[in-house]
Amino acid sequence: MNKPKYVFVTGGVTSSLGKGIISASLAKLLQARGYTVTIQKFDPYINVDPGTLNPYEHGECYVTDDGAETDLDLGHYERFLNVPTSQANNVTTGRIYQTVIDKERRGDYLGKTVQVVPHITDEIKRRLQLLGETGKYEIIITEIGGTVGDIESLPYIEAVRQMRWELAPNDSVVIHLTLLPYLAAAKELKTKPTQHSVKELLETGVQADILVCRTEHTISPEMKKKLALFCNVKSNAVIESIDVETIYDVPLKMLKEKLDKVVLEKFKLPLRGEPDLKQWESFLARFKNPKQEVTIGLVGKYVELPDAYKSIIESFIHAGAANECKVKLEYVHSEFLDKENAVEKISHFDGILVAPGFGSRGIEGKIEAIRYTRENKIPFFGICLGMQCAVIEFARNVLKLKDAHSTEMNEKTKNPVIDMMPDQKKITEKGGTMRLGAYACEIQKGTKAYSAYGRQRISERHRHRYEFNNKYLSEFKAKGMIASGINPETGLVEIVEITEHPYFVGVQYHPELKSTVENPHPLFVRFVKAAMDYKTKKG
Ligand code: GLN
Repeated sequence: MNKPKYVFVTGGVTSSLGKGIISASLAKLLQARGYTVTIQKFDPYINVDPGTLNPYEHGECYVTDDGAETDLDLGHYERFLNVPTSQANNVTTGRIYQTVIDKERRGDYLGKTVQVVPHITDEIKRRLQLLGETGKYEIIITEIGGTVGDIESLPYIEAVRQMRWELAPNDSVVIHLTLLPYLAAAKELKTKPTQHSVKELLETGVQADILVCRTEHTISPEMKKKLALFCNVKSNAVIESIDVETIYDVPLKMLKEKLDKVVLEKFKLPLRGEPDLKQWESFLARFKNPKQEVTIGLVGKYVELPDAYKSIIESFIHAGAANECKVKLEYVHSEFLDKENAVEKISHFDGILVAPGFGSRGIEGKIEAIRYTRENKIPFFGICLGMQCAVIEFARNVLKLKDAHSTEMNEKTKNPVIDMMPDQKKITEKGGTMRLGAYACEIQKGTKAYSAYGRQRISERHRHRYEFNNKYLSEFKAKGMIASGINPETGLVEIVEITEHPYFVGVQYHPELKSTVENPHPLFVRFVKAAMDYKTKKG
């Protein structure tokens, strides 16, 4: 097994330029040429992982099979590559320091002053190479979070500088993603911020090899030459990344711009023929030429920031394409939903998804929305907290347990239909202590869940502390809400559904974390189909 090659992706000028999408697109192209490739994200913040962050801070927390709570960019990596990521694919400054400080306490550095250089940078370098050492990958792409010039990203750039020095010249490439702002008054794209950003990177000893320039307008060959001249790169290494209709267009755009070729040339690696993107292209064709349209209401409390529901939004894109149907998502703020306005706010939808979440804010609105969808036979899909709300609603309005609740919202309820899992009760620390990652689920034949998955044994990812209270199982079943999926080891309820409803499914796990372009999630595909049927019937 040869040593892997390393691509480092840094960002300049501003944040939010889409390093994650560029990294994932490059990885897709290399994968489509037959290379084994993985992507990892190094985040400069001090939280040990994003699990304790409010979604308003960094958007959704993405969970891997091995139970890591990670940055949402890992979701893009999986959706593009169709290969699972793991704990090793996301590292934060908090985790780096935690390791170094633990070592210091153990006495591993006895007698030495522990410093950013070399101790922190050594730990960064060790982690940069962890996946490379598995021997599974030919190319490792590392996205460095933040923007060049930030105080907190300095140790990462320094580690990249050292690593490049230690690696053979053709074994690493630095891609710098920047912005070319367009000045409407002058009708001109401006290169100066990019020049400064490349210079700033150079001051820390790292020369960018490739510039990927985000732009709203085409970059002329003259401008590419100018950028190449001022930034010390070849002009074929100035890559235009113009705004596109969907993030899923970016790999094809990068192919046209030859980003993958330039990278392989720098590595002195063969092209291995043309990339095989047939499946990708057929997905795009279906996505862009829908034959129908449905409108789905997404009920949640973080709707001001769609990034909080990133994987759900993307899952609808995959499932829509699979059904050749455009899925229009409308966000409904659960906090502003009540008995009086629920009908007006949600009755026009062809399907309703109640989102995951924590805490009591907006909970009654979610329950009200669910009552309406259940009674009016509108397709319903509840995820995690959304499923728990469906259970509470059913208990209150069908089982007539008026005070039924989750002990997350009301510790003293007499009817805790959702309760904290027993092994969660001993836990006091917040970070990384939920029921996290992949667990098996056994599906009952003849149910809606079975008809979606087409098999009995599945594995899905979790992130929760509370759970359906099995004491109520028979009461629910007698009234028509069944547990159609159960964890075979613990008996925990994973899926509930209402038998007499055309499509009413709630899941304790997060199916959205496993939907990819090449593998749209069966529950999303079935839900969109149910919404299409409902719309047709409604006329
Ligand atoms: N707050 C709920 C729990 O902890 C649901 C979590 C979620 O929706 N991810 O069980």
